[in-house]
Amino acid sequence: MVVVMRTGAAPEEIDAVVARVEAAGGSAFVSRGVQRTIVGLVGDVVQFQALNLATMPGVGDVVRVSKPYKLVSRENHPEATTVSVAGVPIGPDTFTLIAGPCAVETPEQTLAAALMAKEAGATLLRGGAYKPRTSPYAFQGLGEKGLRILAEVREETGLPIVTEVVDAHDVSLVAEYADMLQVGTRNMQNFALLQAVGAAGKPVMLKRGMTATYEEWLMAAEYIAQRGNLDIVLCERGIRTFETSTRNTLDIAAVPMMHALSHLPVIIDPSHSGGRRDLVVPLTRAAIGVGADAVIVDVHPDPSAALCDGPQALFGAELDQLAAACRDLPPVVGRTLVR
Ligand code: PEP
Ligand code: MN
Repeated sequence: MVVVMRTGAAPEEIDAVVARVEAAGGSAFVSRGVQRTIVGLVGDVVQFQALNLATMPGVGDVVRVSKPYKLVSRENHPEATTVSVAGVPIGPDTFTLIAGPCAVETPEQTLAAALMAKEAGATLLRGGAYKPRTSPYAFQGLGEKGLRILAEVREETGLPIVTEVVDAHDVSLVAEYADMLQVGTRNMQNFALLQAVGAAGKPVMLKRGMTATYEEWLMAAEYIAQRGNLDIVLCERGIRTFETSTRNTLDIAAVPMMHALSHLPVIIDPSHSGGRRDLVVPLTRAAIGVGADAVIVDVHPDPSAALCDGPQALFGAELDQLAAACRDLPPVVGRTLVR
């Protein structure tokens, strides 16, 4: 942390800043410039924040130089992390396709969607048994019955499962079935849930809150990491903007930005960002181009009958195009599709 004194700050004002920092157990190093004096602080940033240095006489600005997140920052961990989901890698050298139904509805629908996903090149199966729905009248998911269906489909197809947990009390149950736990956009700052998944011993996919900044998103990841779990995958799923034509606005810059700020893998959900079937393939191409480590895509054997998010689910020709993009484009950016 650096304290920038105002031009012409009095020596006693500078001394007072140094005294307050030292009284709190920190060290303060004074550099006197021609115009301004700068005081560099070494010690506990959180403690310095409580000192209200910005309000002291003669102080112009207080600037934080280190990142507030530690365990997930690139600063403290230069090497990119590969997260292994039951042996399937999500990391810097590969590209992974995760696909499946938005929600588990029936054993037949889930198996059909899983087979479609596998045929398209997916190596991980998505599917929600607990659904965080905006409306309390909408299909809420099958709960544990849905988890059992997922486990049967995993048995049949060999695809490990990514599934959402919406409540801290359900984490141990969902973790019994899941290969990767999903924390959804509406729960990105559910701190009790983040701590619970951090202690569950399974990889976690953390979706970006729909109004979250990169720093808020990384601080949420830090909650998980702080409980001892660094197997975290960050998922950009679109943010709220003034545009209403798409379900959300895909922030494509999030991929290189989050890769710069953090060592964690960064993936894109083109289904929940675009919210329209015809956008999923173009957004997937963009995701691969910009360096995403994976995409997570909704597929459904009969989208017109889907209980959740049918308009964005792929099938038929568009799913074939998705498969082609995932096969052909990663080599252009030095990656190979995980098979
Ligand atoms: C989902 O992936 O099914 C989901 C609910 O996504 P989000 O949390 O991004 O809305
Ligand atoms: Mn959905």
